[in-house]
Amino acid sequence: MGRFKVPELNRRRVLTAAGAAIAGVSTASHAKANAGPVGRADTETDVIVVGSGAAGSVAALFARQAGARVMLVEKSSHYGGTSSKSGGGYWIPNHFLLRAKGIADPKPDFLKYLVRVAYPASYDPEDATLGAPEARYRLYETFYDRSGEMVEELHRTSALKSKEYVPLPDYYSHLPENKVPQGRLLCSITHSADGSSGGDEMMWQLRRAVLAAGVDVRMETAAKELVQDDSGRVIGLELSMPGGETTTVAAEGGVVFASGGFAHNAELLDRFHGKPVFGACALPASTGDFIPIATKVGARLGNTASAWRGQVVLDEGLLYPAVPSDVWFVPFDSMFFVNRYGHRCVNEHRSYHERSLAQYRWNPNRAEYPDLLNFMIYDQRTAELQAGTMPIPPTPTGAEYVISGQTLDELAGNVGKHLDALKTRISGLACAPEFASNLKRSFDRFNAFARTGKDEDFQRGETDLERFVNSSPPPAGKWDNQKKNSALYPLQETGPYYCIILAPGLLDTNGGPEIDTEARILGWNGQPIPGLYGAGNCVASPAHDCYWAGGSTLALAMTFGMIAGRNAASGRGAK
Ligand SMILES: Cc1cc2nc3c(=O)[nH]c(=O)nc-3n(C[C@H](O)[C@H](O)[C@H](O)COP(=O)(O)OP(=O)(O)OC[C@H]3O[C@@H](n4cnc5c(N)ncnc54)[C@H](O)[C@@H]3O)c2cc1C
Repeated sequence: MGRFKVPELNRRRVLTAAGAAIAGVSTASHAKANAGPVGRADTETDVIVVGSGAAGSVAALFARQAGARVMLVEKSSHYGGTSSKSGGGYWIPNHFLLRAKGIADPKPDFLKYLVRVAYPASYDPEDATLGAPEARYRLYETFYDRSGEMVEELHRTSALKSKEYVPLPDYYSHLPENKVPQGRLLCSITHSADGSSGGDEMMWQLRRAVLAAGVDVRMETAAKELVQDDSGRVIGLELSMPGGETTTVAAEGGVVFASGGFAHNAELLDRFHGKPVFGACALPASTGDFIPIATKVGARLGNTASAWRGQVVLDEGLLYPAVPSDVWFVPFDSMFFVNRYGHRCVNEHRSYHERSLAQYRWNPNRAEYPDLLNFMIYDQRTAELQAGTMPIPPTPTGAEYVISGQTLDELAGNVGKHLDALKTRISGLACAPEFASNLKRSFDRFNAFARTGKDEDFQRGETDLERFVNSSPPPAGKWDNQKKNSALYPLQETGPYYCIILAPGLLDTNGGPEIDTEARILGWNGQPIPGLYGAGNCVASPAHDCYWAGGSTLALAMTFGMIAGRNAASGRGAK
């Protein structure tokens, strides 16, 4: 923890206009050589926001809208964080477009859905907090109460214009608690000719708004340490500049952290997550910087074993854990997954989060995770029809991670050789000796289900979600199973066959310092640390290791980003 009026202050660099230019400052700086009322620092502002992703950009915008001078610091040279790489969908209950269509999304039902999925073991519709811990329940209420306001205000001010996204059902659309199983998902209205509405478009718009609002953006500038006054109130931040120099910035309103998760910090993953993770599609900057910074000032951590999850291609994760992409929905029909014993192990058409979570099934007799690796088996038909759909390459063997064989026996043998070649990096994850024989049995059993259209083991294709993700029919004439069950199709009786090995991975983690409904960071005593706020993947998410629907992560990040920005601007948490 730093304090102002420290002796080494003179050695620190004052953020002059020249320094700002080096730092990539894109708008007017409010820098002053010495801070005023809050003490002596190299420069001052009202609110500092850490991180330029969705949470940080929204926090900066709302703090600025509330009249504060805002400095946004971003440690990388890229504006937008993982948010800019995302699909750009945000899941908002009771939003203005739903209301315009006359679709009711009442709060009591929405809260039931949240708690039912996040706390299945304690969910109780008769309980005052539905069985969720009180603090989490209040965050759910806040999410419902404030997320609509956030998108409407961004829409009204043209900072981020929203429209309905693809009609993707919620990930548990089939649960009776979900009264609006589809329609909450929004995305930005594109400004670009290619019609793209992904995270790049969303962050392009937010960045444009941030710059237009006069936020003082400093790239390649990393938050290092909080500065507190004698009462413990956060009054500024120590920053590392592009050249490596350190500077201190005073911020009377406080500091908002929005610095992403710790998916790319192996030590924190080991300490907090525990279970093996083979890669994440978060940008490499997700190194959990906020955790040591916040714990140093007494923050209470929560949700540290949780994450937004996805499967990754094993070979890619071993090569470089910041994988280009997770394996999202696999809308392939003549395809199934088996485990290291050759047994089918999951409903392949559930969401990426659920499939990844399912890989941690524990076998107490064998003391192992038998499903840790999923072997995705498919035929030539799927290889051709789904060419280019992640993880299937544009040509059947057009990626080194694709294993092939003319027969199932040959495929099984080649899977063994493939794993053997990776042995030095994944010791202990070989296939069991019975893999080949069980694979044939799984093949026959899956094909029998596909012919009847009924998956008696995993009920694949029986929910709206699974039907939706499989709703893009291949070319006419090749989709004759559509009427029975579009999610199932028998694999061809003759090869070639293919296999891609999928391992549990992440989008990013979502644990860290806990927040209250005002996005204030809580200390060990449960009381807010004055002047310190957080939003997005750097704080403990109320999601509690569940993924209600596509867009849950950005929606929470942006909602609590708005709250954090406004409160920091009003100095509310500092009182
Ligand atoms: C391919 C992909 C698709 C996805 N699609 C969706 C989707 O459609 N909908 C959805 O809801 N979610 C989606 N996600 C997840 C979503 O992108 C993230 O959960 C979300 O972007 C997190 O936002 P954030 O603002 O918390 O963090 P980020 O966007 O990661 O921003 C954090 C920023 O903080 C910076 N930073 C870190 N440490 C410091 C420091 N010490 N000082 C200064 N800056 C720092 C980082 O460089 C980064 O720019 C997707 C993820 C991926 C990878």
